[in-house]
Amino acid sequence: MSSTVGQVIKCKAAVAWEAGKPLVIEEVEVAPPQANEVRVKILFTSLCHTDGQTPLFPRIFGHEAGGIVESVGEGVTDLKPGDHVLPVFTGECKECRHCKSEESNMCDLLRINTDRGVMLTDGKSRFSINGQPIYHFVGTSTFSEYTVVHVGCLAKINPAAPLDKVCVLSCGISTGLGATLNVAKPKKGQSVAVFGLGAVGLAAAEGARIAGASRIIGVDLNPDRFEEAKKFGVTEFVNPKDHDKPVQQVLADMTDGGVDRAVECTGSIQAMISAFECVHDGWGVAVLVGVPNKDDAFKTHPMNLLNERTLKGTFFGNYKPRTDIPGVVEKYMNKELELEKFITHSVPFSEINKAFDYMLQGKSIRCIITMGA
Ligand code: NAD
Ligand code: ZN
Repeated sequence: MSSTVGQVIKCKAAVAWEAGKPLVIEEVEVAPPQANEVRVKILFTSLCHTDGQTPLFPRIFGHEAGGIVESVGEGVTDLKPGDHVLPVFTGECKECRHCKSEESNMCDLLRINTDRGVMLTDGKSRFSINGQPIYHFVGTSTFSEYTVVHVGCLAKINPAAPLDKVCVLSCGISTGLGATLNVAKPKKGQSVAVFGLGAVGLAAAEGARIAGASRIIGVDLNPDRFEEAKKFGVTEFVNPKDHDKPVQQVLADMTDGGVDRAVECTGSIQAMISAFECVHDGWGVAVLVGVPNKDDAFKTHPMNLLNERTLKGTFFGNYKPRTDIPGVVEKYMNKELELEKFITHSVPFSEINKAFDYMLQGKSIRCIITMGA
């Protein structure tokens, strides 16, 4: 057993002291895990747009990562020191109605909560600097060499899987992939339109490629996204700005009446409506993934539904983090799923702010941050 068990660990973490300011690498103290908690040594982390959106400071962000269990708290039986894990921002308690339902991954206890900055067990933070508490973020806080996570937010994965690749499955990539494979479920040979070619949309396209879609049509307002998307099997592109008629009409004209499946990964309400209205009547299915603005309302004529189109939405690609994510890692291990093409940049932990710049400038799909470097 490691000598750190039961002890406070001092390590480096990237702390957000205030909104919009660069992160500062600080020495933090990480308390031992309490009941149902696990302390994890993070080896690799990446980031996405959710990191940084908070009213609560000081805070340690980070929710896409891979690590190794250092020690476990009371009552933890599924994990032991040395296990390889992916922290996930939304959990699976395995006890609530959602966890017991085959159809849901929206755990009552551990569903994403961006406002809570403390652990559920005692309402306290496990991070501090000279006695000042530093808040957690979505239960993961992976921009730290060690973090404490509820056992329900950790997927135990194959120890042979390279953590510097599979860490990207903690959030956006699984979200897009699952939206296609678990929810849109295209049949082999069907056409799939993907709205928004950011990381989530490209993962939705990867899902369509795996499902054997015959045509993958990318829709984005930014033509710079098209070149990158070719690596993901996207063969045709539509920029709504290039057309006078609504994009749903353009897609219907290209596909003899509509695409078989559409997956929306933009967060734009207009794209959500177009994604629904571009699917074929009789069998088309549209899936919404993007997070809309607070005041948005979805407006379509009910006839569009009566004509046998289906509209669905999904959270984290309908994957249950503990039950299903290990299987997604296996898809990578058996070469069904390609992850390398998502990883466009890498930086040492000391240069984590560069990773934010790459993301905000739209240069990176995923930038891997190596801890301890
Ligand atoms: P991103 O910003 O990298 O990519 C979005 C893309 O959509 C951009 O390329 C942009 O040009 C394009 N776009 C914007 N408006 C458009 C429009 N009207 N028509 C066509 N294209 C348009 O974002 P991302 O990281 O890929 O995330 C995509 C969305 O998924 C976000 O809304 C994010 O919040 C959401 N998300 C949802 C879940 C979930 O569980 N449901 C999880 C993670 C992310
Ligand atoms: Zn639950």
